[in-house]
Amino acid sequence: MNGTAASPLARLPSVDQVLQSQTGRLAVAEYGHRQAVAAIRHELDGLRAAIRTGTSGEAGAEAVAHSAYQGLVGAALPRARRVFNLTGTVLHTNLGRALLPEEAVEAAAAAMRSPVALEYDLSTGSRGERDTIVRDLLVQLTGAEDATIVNNNAAAVLIVLNTLAFGKESIVSRGELIEIGGAFRMPDIMARAGTRLVEIGTTNRTHLKDYEAAIGADTGLLMKVHTSNYRIEGFTTAVPAADLAALARRHGVPLVDDLGSGTLVDLSQYGIGREPTVADAVRAGADLVTFSGDKLLGGPQAGFIVGRRDLVARVNKNPMKRAMRLDKIRLAALEATLKLYLDPERLAERLPTLRLLRRPVGEIEALAARLLPALAQAVGPEFDVSTIACMSQVGSGSLPQETLRSAALAVSPLDPRASGQVLSDIAARFRSLPVPVIGRIADGAFMLDLRCLEDEERFRAGLARLEGAA
Ligand SMILES: *Cc1c(COP(=O)(O)O)cnc(C)c1O
Repeated sequence: MNGTAASPLARLPSVDQVLQSQTGRLAVAEYGHRQAVAAIRHELDGLRAAIRTGTSGEAGAEAVAHSAYQGLVGAALPRARRVFNLTGTVLHTNLGRALLPEEAVEAAAAAMRSPVALEYDLSTGSRGERDTIVRDLLVQLTGAEDATIVNNNAAAVLIVLNTLAFGKESIVSRGELIEIGGAFRMPDIMARAGTRLVEIGTTNRTHLKDYEAAIGADTGLLMKVHTSNYRIEGFTTAVPAADLAALARRHGVPLVDDLGSGTLVDLSQYGIGREPTVADAVRAGADLVTFSGDKLLGGPQAGFIVGRRDLVARVNKNPMKRAMRLDKIRLAALEATLKLYLDPERLAERLPTLRLLRRPVGEIEALAARLLPALAQAVGPEFDVSTIACMSQVGSGSLPQETLRSAALAVSPLDPRASGQVLSDIAARFRSLPVPVIGRIADGAFMLDLRCLEDEERFRAGLARLEGAA
């Protein structure tokens, strides 16, 4: 030794030495030998690189084990982990859209744990059809002759176009050539479905005579698309579904109505804006209607196709159907969700989507007032925290113009010269909590819209952690 100490590289502990340390043994006990070794190697590699570039000195076995253990803890957190959605958007596509009712959660869990009568007819003891689990409910709730179900509404539109108009033309108004978030564009879906898009009318006005002029020997179907996520206003004309249905019938071509969100009940009775119901579309005479399971309906991701029995039978025979089918977990959740609609009086308390959409603003304001002191304490003295009135949105392209009066806690830097970085930093601190809190930055503040905050206790526990970390 005598002054000629080994180089820092040579002084680094071996993998074995780190494994033998107290935290090293803990890492093995919790994550297994293989993952612990990989994490320790990763740490040691990083340290060697840092020593070579002179950015770090040295580290003992316990310190290396500690960093490796932290890495393992971080990697073990689920990527799809629960968060608080305080964005003010109730059906947030990036945060998983509808929250399922407890009844659906229980049904899904039971279907995961035990064998279920999925394609099995319990009355006869013979093979059954998986879609019959929800078909009768859908027929009952929509007034349609028949119903079938696929993975999501994008799939529903794709398979309907492919079944009814493959190699033929599909006629759509230019005002309805929608793009829904996540690259669902009607013209692209049509191309993949193997149907030729025939655009008619103009962006703001399409008349019945435009449809009539476009119908010919090659027409596969007429399509009506609900402009879920935008409105064309001003000098506009769109043809009512009933007139379109009559025209389609006269020419012997089917009318398909893609409702998108679609809802099974008139939401105006719950004080939310009016969105066309599936039953309305069926009654207006559409031959097939398509809609989503996880938007306003408030269930799991799914795509419904309801309408004429002969057309539903053709969809079911399409080989694509097998590639789009639902698994037992979702079917169980869906059945439980749809059953709640049989009791409309209690729907609003049992269906989280509806409960959150119609949550009284007074209740949200009271929650904001209760939480304000704890939040102010947690973010520290450099920030001002206040309760402000705000507007929540429905989300998922549903009822784009409907906004709901709500209340938010607004966190803003006291220093008026503070940069936008300060807000990004505070947002990042909230995102790094054990249950990440997702808010939004608007008007120079980090805003937490409390409409969707139901687990107040857990949120408070998170605030305490935030304070500790500051
Ligand atoms: C949302 C929407 C779709 C896509 O539905 P997903 O269930 O998200 O696949 C299709 N068409 C319209 C009109 C929509 O609003």
